[in-house]
Amino acid sequence: MNVIEARRLSKRYRRGVWALREATLAIPEGRVVALVGPNGAGKSTLLTMVVGLAVPTSGELAVLGGLVPGSVEALGRVAFVAQDPSLYPNLSVADTLRLAGNLSSRWDEADARARLAALDIPLRRKVGQLSGGQQAQVALAVALARRPGLLILDEPLASLDPLARHEFMATVMAAVAEEGLSVVFSSHVLAELERACDYLVVLARGAVQVAGDVDELLSEHSVLTGPAEQADAVTAGLCVVREQRTDRQSTVLVRDYDPVRVPAGWRAERTNLEELVLAYLRTPSVSALPGPASGNRTMAAPLRAVDA
Ligand code: ADP
Repeated sequence: MNVIEARRLSKRYRRGVWALREATLAIPEGRVVALVGPNGAGKSTLLTMVVGLAVPTSGELAVLGGLVPGSVEALGRVAFVAQDPSLYPNLSVADTLRLAGNLSSRWDEADARARLAALDIPLRRKVGQLSGGQQAQVALAVALARRPGLLILDEPLASLDPLARHEFMATVMAAVAEEGLSVVFSSHVLAELERACDYLVVLARGAVQVAGDVDELLSEHSVLTGPAEQADAVTAGLCVVREQRTDRQSTVLVRDYDPVRVPAGWRAERTNLEELVLAYLRTPSVSALPGPASGNRTMAAPLRAVDA
């Protein structure tokens, strides 16, 4: 089952801004998906359509194996935490849970209370008197107590300090391990992604630039380093994602490279997720996407972006 399936999905706002253009994507269930991209790439637009808060202009979008976003079935099974959790500051935590419980058919109050007790968040305290990290945890506990199949988190870490970020992601990961739910979160905090996510989607200019299993993406990419004067010859015919060059040395991120072929004087190393994401973000014209039927990945013609 795919938890999100988008086909040629587009969204145009009033005033003619295309936030998404023909985005095609299939995210399998049981994954923790990082959605990254520069500001304005269309991440929030995609997520608000997935949770049913915005309507596509054209194309198809389904959640949890074919449900229509915003339908009663989908609303009951997709939970959403936005960057600024929409909680009422004057309500106590206990009243916040009661209110959320009244609005949800699958509500598990004991689960929410247990999560908050484990974090020493007092139920009697007014939400407005909690720290930003604690408020984020209340919003997350509310979302998880709805027993969702798909949890959507839009920039959940942006306003949290490093400790609160860590605790927030620990709660998410524990819920994934216990309940097998699927999570999609957008984030600019690249260091957090490597620990948490096992599936990556990069959006650029309203289109899907990269989509795939993190381990597969990492094993498909290599960093080649060697003398700059040989770089053109060595990389001819390779799928170059990005090249950085000084007078002497060239460092090239390549895709689908056969490490047996490393030329004398060159080194081939694995990359990490942060380096991989940054390389694609800096080169929006190059993509890494799964093929339509075979599962093979295809790449745009070997384009080259050289940093002098
Ligand atoms: P991201 O979350 O990746 O930063 P967004 O989805 O928020 O990107 O925005 C994508 C594009 O759509 C941007 O150009 C943004 O200015 C525009 N946009 C977003 N929301 C609206 C809106 N409500 N009305 C008009 N334009 C919008």
